[in-house]
Amino acid sequence: MEKIKMNTIVEMDGDEMTRIIWKSIKDELLSPFVELNTEYYDLGLKYRDETNDKVTVEAGEAIKKHRVGVKCATITPNAQRVEEYSLKEMWKSPNGTIRAILDGTVFRAPVLVSGIKPVVKNWSEPITIARHAYGDVYKSTEMRVPQGKAELVFTDKDGKETRETIYDFECDGVLQGQYNKDSSIRSFAHSCFKYALSTNQDLWFSTKDTISKKYDQTFKLIFQEIYENDYKADFEKAGLEYFYTLIDDAVARVIRSKGGYIWACKNYDGDVMSDMVSTAFGSLAMMTSVLVSPDGNYEYEAAHGTVTRHYYRYLEGEKTSTNPIATIFAWSGALRKRGEFDGNKPLMEFADNLEKCSLDVIESGFMTKDLVGLWEGSEATAVTTDEFISLIAERLHKVYGN
Ligand code: NAP
Ligand code: MG
Repeated sequence: MEKIKMNTIVEMDGDEMTRIIWKSIKDELLSPFVELNTEYYDLGLKYRDETNDKVTVEAGEAIKKHRVGVKCATITPNAQRVEEYSLKEMWKSPNGTIRAILDGTVFRAPVLVSGIKPVVKNWSEPITIARHAYGDVYKSTEMRVPQGKAELVFTDKDGKETRETIYDFECDGVLQGQYNKDSSIRSFAHSCFKYALSTNQDLWFSTKDTISKKYDQTFKLIFQEIYENDYKADFEKAGLEYFYTLIDDAVARVIRSKGGYIWACKNYDGDVMSDMVSTAFGSLAMMTSVLVSPDGNYEYEAAHGTVTRHYYRYLEGEKTSTNPIATIFAWSGALRKRGEFDGNKPLMEFADNLEKCSLDVIESGFMTKDLVGLWEGSEATAVTTDEFISLIAERLHKVYGN
């Protein structure tokens, strides 16, 4: 066969077990079929340290240029990693750095496979969670206070003060100041509407605006305004719905739903709900993640980390059974998006085939160890990562006759 041609995507290599899997996926599942055209950035911790983390910034800028990126999981250094890798500094989380450059929102969606049933039995389609990862309680200022008066004071740029009493404390207590920015909420809204259109799914958004009449209300109004002005026509044309409701009502509806939509959440709600939803769908190893910028750039990755425990066993010579599905789907997501941007049908078809062949291996009873315990189909055989990837490759070669 003649290999499928493609325009450039940004490739970001990573760390530990996922770096090993990254190479196998490229060698066995991609390169035999696609003339891979990537701009390569090594975000492995060693090279980040050598470049004083410049490479991460360059990768983020490159995504802005090429509009599509795919990223391997990377180590976020802590004190122990600083020692392990003799780092010059405790470099920031690469995901945080790239998110700041793209001003993006992270969407997390599970990969569903027949044979593994979500805990919530009526969930037959994925639920994608979008978390507004900026501000609120994550950037709040807190105090423990004795008896006395707490006030909210705002000083504008001309020095004019506005005050409101928060509470006149008759005893010891606690205080918290939170903020968010219209610009950040707007970016979040644009990313959500864009991603809903791009994946052809309804968008749900929830806050607690009945209680928080200015703070949460601002989120609600900004979403509504942006929807009406910029996206309503496209949503209607695509037969999609934008649906706002209170967070408690959303939770009840989500549990009773069959899935198949995007649920946009404020920062804290998204933090909590994404863990609940991903656990209920099965395994972290089956969770994909995509960062979408408000101007429509896409960075795909697995939601899980570098699987350190497996890597240490791999270094001792063990053939591990680490699940590569989320990393494979990061690649298929990026290739499909590249194909969509360029009207490159063969590339989009390849992304579909790669996903189909991967799921077909599991559905025929061969899977990595993490899935065996969740499996409800007839017999399951646990295989190593290498065996699993070979089984996918076999199927792909059959499809492409090479
Ligand atoms: P992790 O790498 O997600 O792994 C936690 C545990 O989950 C593993 O030990 C394994 O459990 C299971 N697991 C995760 N992915 C799996 C897969 N593909 N196949 C099979 N099992 C899987 O999280 P972590 O151990 O907390 O973090 C490790 C490193 O990853 C850290 O340095 C952290 O900074 C980094 N990290 C990076 C990202 C990112 O780049 N997006 C995200 C999170 C964490 P068992 O050991 O029980 O089999
Ligand atoms: Mg969480």
